[in-house]
Amino acid sequence: MGEQGYFLRPLPETGVAVLSLRGLGVVAADLPQGWAPAGLAFAIASLASRPGQSIRLWEEGGVFRTAVSGGSSATADGDIDEMFLDWLFDDVTVRTCQLCGRPGQPSQKRVAVLCDFCEHLLLTNDAAAPFPPRLPLFDSAASAQLELIDRGILAWVPAGWARVALRTFERLDDVRLIQKAIFSDKGDHLAIDISGGGGIVAFDQIRSDLEDSTRARCRHCGRWSSPTATVPGQCEGCTAIQARGWEIIRARNGGEVGR
Ligand SMILES: [Zn+2]
Ligand SMILES: [Zn+2]
Repeated sequence: MGEQGYFLRPLPETGVAVLSLRGLGVVAADLPQGWAPAGLAFAIASLASRPGQSIRLWEEGGVFRTAVSGGSSATADGDIDEMFLDWLFDDVTVRTCQLCGRPGQPSQKRVAVLCDFCEHLLLTNDAAAPFPPRLPLFDSAASAQLELIDRGILAWVPAGWARVALRTFERLDDVRLIQKAIFSDKGDHLAIDISGGGGIVAFDQIRSDLEDSTRARCRHCGRWSSPTATVPGQCEGCTAIQARGWEIIRARNGGEVGR
């Protein structure tokens, strides 16, 4: 995975976790770096339960795997339930990009858990990503965006607003106003205007629905976003991911090729 082309630089805590796992003697050579923090949490919980335990962590078929043996029970009450630990960390890793440690989901296109950004870099091998790191798109937003692109309409609309844009396009088409409509990105919402003057009741309703719906949704991922959000037009999750910065790096020589 990701042995060539471009990479999103993994979050710094993933590097710290790799070193900590090594220090604990955990065998984790086949654990992707993005999952190292989850692996470290697993190792610390396991070792608190059974000091001296041998722990091996790895990825197989896009799934976080663990094997433990030996050690001595730390308390008379017995060990932490291993099933509980497996369940807990499976659940964390299914939401964490295995390459970079940012929020991700099981990929439809690769046998891996990936963030949208890493998936894009892997599939396109292109350093010019068309969107910043974000929370993973829901399937409905991803399919609406594909439909806009396939139909050659509004392909520039941010992914989080694709569903609303598609619905708006169809409503305008129904009342034969689509030829006159001009969409524009206002940052925190999508707007439409109409050439040749407004005052058409059906159009005014469609316009206010579009503006209200996009104002209430994150432009990047389509989740709800509040009008008082830290960055208008995006959800707090996407804002938090982007606030940590990002960098695309070339895999072969580690050379940086842009933010
Ligand atoms: Zn990623
Ligand atoms: Zn978002």
